Amino acid sequence: MDRLLAGYRRFRSEVWPKERARYEALATKGQRPESLVIACSDSRVDPQTVFGAGPGELFVVRNVAGLVPPYRPDATYHGTSAALEYAVRVLGVARIVVLGHAQCGGVRAMVEGAPSEARDFVEPWMQIAAPVLRSLPEHVDADDVLERCELEVVRLSLANLGTFPWIDEAIAAGRLQLGGFHFDIQTGVLAQLQGARLAPVA
Ligand SMILES: [Zn+2]
Repeated sequence: MDRLLAGYRRFRSEVWPKERARYEALATKGQRPESLVIACSDSRVDPQTVFGAGPGELFVVRNVAGLVPPYRPDATYHGTSAALEYAVRVLGVARIVVLGHAQCGGVRAMVEGAPSEARDFVEPWMQIAAPVLRSLPEHVDADDVLERCELEVVRLSLANLGTFPWIDEAIAAGRLQLGGFHFDIQTGVLAQLQGARLAPVA
């Protein structure tokens, strides 16, 4: 706990004096983030860091592997869909970005099977991405499967966004854009999805 408290004290002494006016304005006027980012919970892939954003700029939902489930309004608990609903319908974000990454433990659990300690929730959660495994072309080398799946999981999440009727409507009306990215932890390079391929951001 001490490390967290030390971090807070650094924030309070170093960051807060510089950012105070910004926080106060956000508190008074409310948040108006332009972008919703859907990212993995992985501790190495923080959207605010990768996109160099400050407070109030990004509405973020993080879950295992950064997955978007298909639209399914029923009585179960839909944390990711709730965040989508709030960001799109209440806050009116102008873009939704799905941020995948290299060495994703969630994607690995899908491909190789979840660790035995993570079968209650991780395994069924990753079933959202099962169509990715089924659609892999046969010629993909075993070494490339994880990388390929990381990319395809981003594409699947983008496709699932389109199953939400109010997202589909907002895109058709030109009020909302979608984008996909992949972050390489080792090199720090961000690549943007262009069609079915990734292109490094210049
Ligand atoms: Zn991950």
